[in-house]
Amino acid sequence: MLRSLRSAVLVPFVVLAAACASGTTDAATVDAAAKARCAQLAERALADNRAIAMLASLCDAAPKRLSGSPGSADAVAWGLRTMQELGLQNVRAEPCLVPHWERGVETATLVGDPAPLRITALGGSIGTAADGLEAEVVEVRSFEQLQALGDAARGKIVFFNRPMPRALRAVGQAYGEAVPQRSNGAIEAGKVGAVAALVRSMTTAIDEHPHTGAMHYDANVPPVPAAAIATLDAERLGKALQNGPVRVRLTLGCRQHADVEGANVVGELPGSVTPERIVVVGGHLDAWDLGRGAHDDGAGCVHALEAVRLLQACGIRPRCTIRVVLFANEENGLRGAKAYAEAHRDELQNHVGALESDSGGFAPTGIMTSLRDDAAAALKQRLLPLQDLGAGTFLPGAGGCGADIGPLHAAGVPCYGLVVASQRYFNFHHTAVDDLAAVDERELALGCAVVAFVLSVIADA
Ligand SMILES: [Zn+2]
Repeated sequence: MLRSLRSAVLVPFVVLAAACASGTTDAATVDAAAKARCAQLAERALADNRAIAMLASLCDAAPKRLSGSPGSADAVAWGLRTMQELGLQNVRAEPCLVPHWERGVETATLVGDPAPLRITALGGSIGTAADGLEAEVVEVRSFEQLQALGDAARGKIVFFNRPMPRALRAVGQAYGEAVPQRSNGAIEAGKVGAVAALVRSMTTAIDEHPHTGAMHYDANVPPVPAAAIATLDAERLGKALQNGPVRVRLTLGCRQHADVEGANVVGELPGSVTPERIVVVGGHLDAWDLGRGAHDDGAGCVHALEAVRLLQACGIRPRCTIRVVLFANEENGLRGAKAYAEAHRDELQNHVGALESDSGGFAPTGIMTSLRDDAAAALKQRLLPLQDLGAGTFLPGAGGCGADIGPLHAAGVPCYGLVVASQRYFNFHHTAVDDLAAVDERELALGCAVVAFVLSVIADA
């Protein structure tokens, strides 16, 4: 709070002082024009209120759109239709192979306790036998603890019960500290001869919603089924274990099929001066299948699409082409991200920037960028009008501005990410309640305005 107050108060004064000291009106004029443009975009976004309607139309048209599912084709059709309605050029689907994993029945019970445990299979998990499996549970909070158990974990269900650390203000960092037990728990359980992995859901909230998410196997370790358990039931299971041995019966019907064809959806607002130079803006079109993916990442897709509509509606036409890319398969493979970078390898030197939104549709608070030093300082100056929208946070030198633009970043393209107020993100992330009701229409609209303003800056270079 202190930091944002200080920058909000001091920075405009510094800018004003610099403009006066230069002895010309240019700096002040440019700044005033940018401020006016930023205000215009925000007013238009709020007044038109199109973002929430666009998000609703995605959630209705493709409520289940995990890669490879029938709903993912509906999402691609929605993307193509929406881009055409927005008047984008060169609208097309760029095909790529994606994994096809299917969820099935999923149940778990504490033997001797009639109340079910609320669980959900982790994405990519193998299933159990049709009649499930039953085994004693061992609880651990780290991989080291599991390794120390050694043979004592053989034949058991490993219960990874490390909470996301509550004390960290950056929830993404808290997620990062706990999420290895989800992504790699099945491998570590397989190494010690366990029969399954049960992972505490990735949230600091104590509630009834299990959170799915990606997990991996290692070709050298026997695969075991893996599921997430709602935090309320993780607490219940943990307490039961304090009173002695506990057995759990687990049934998962999930299956991995052969890869199928998916697609990135692409459309362009051609640049007014140098159309061969490209700024990519996007989010990912796939979503986990428990909810309708309103925050993750329907909001990111809408941020990109509505930003381009706003630029057109406000008569702002940047010099470079803005290419909207709705990426396939971010959640369980990143195949769309890899396919885009591969398909456009020969024109990557013409990519002057890439911006992704994949942190939810919450109120925007600023921008992160891979730029450093003088380039970052120059951008920071040009983005000062965002302070008027409460989005003045500027985070230079960021390693990851978005998973889908990671391959572009690796190829040297300057990257940008929308930063939002993320304290509530993990109440919804990868759950059944990541739905439209969790997104505020004004917060979503303001995020679109911020993306539009940033595009008006970085695509006008
Ligand atoms: Zn996402």
